[in-house]
Amino acid sequence: MDGQMIVTKSPAELDAMAASGDLLVQVHELITSLVRPGITPLELDRAAEEMIRANGAVPSFKGFHGYPASLCISPNEMVVHGIPGKRAFVEGDLVSIDCGVTLDGWVADAAVTHEIGTVSAEATHLREKTLESLLAAVEVCVPGNRVGDVGHAVQTVVEDAGLTIVRSLVGHGVGRTMHEDPQVPNYGKPGRGARLTNGMVIAVEPMVTTGGHEVVVADDDWAINTVDGSLSAHQEFTIAITDDGPRVLTPWHASVKTR
Ligand code: MG
Ligand code: MG
Repeated sequence: MDGQMIVTKSPAELDAMAASGDLLVQVHELITSLVRPGITPLELDRAAEEMIRANGAVPSFKGFHGYPASLCISPNEMVVHGIPGKRAFVEGDLVSIDCGVTLDGWVADAAVTHEIGTVSAEATHLREKTLESLLAAVEVCVPGNRVGDVGHAVQTVVEDAGLTIVRSLVGHGVGRTMHEDPQVPNYGKPGRGARLTNGMVIAVEPMVTTGGHEVVVADDDWAINTVDGSLSAHQEFTIAITDDGPRVLTPWHASVKTR
């Protein structure tokens, strides 16, 4: 693709990124053990930062374009980039939590959507189908496929479920920096876009709503909300494309742990 610079990684570099990813999985497991009604995003952020730094790593988000925290915590109609604050979670919230870890100079990026207590059937459907779309994308992350195949895999699951892709926010290459080429939209046509090759690493991150695709930046200049107030979910893996098949470097879900 014209103008793109895609940096592939050696097997040793992929192992280093996997170590960063393993730490990030531990952070998400810590978060999963803590999320409940009554806990505040600020408490989760502190716990995550403490674990990251205790393991000799750096929270990738903190200071990124001035971002003030280690996590992005985005409840309900908030899609992404929620700055952790003091509003405690309440029963029924659907909360997307995104984290980046930099270990030995390598970034790993992953997001998980959590149900707080018992949520609506609509919220569960949204969370489960967003995850299913991400897992479908993993399957097509093989050399020879193209970025459009990844987007198409996500889009098919989401739209077949009666849900909507947020189109203005996309996934991305990952490596020494958090955002590298190529961009990875969550929609697309099979066979189009940059070719996936051995050693590429991409963050695939479907952002899905129960309503429309339009989003708006909040007054804090960070949080991004659905315009229509509909619910949103966001789940993300950092995935290496290898000749041996997809390698999820942030395997926070059981079905991708053995790859
Ligand atoms: Mg992320
Ligand atoms: Mg990302």
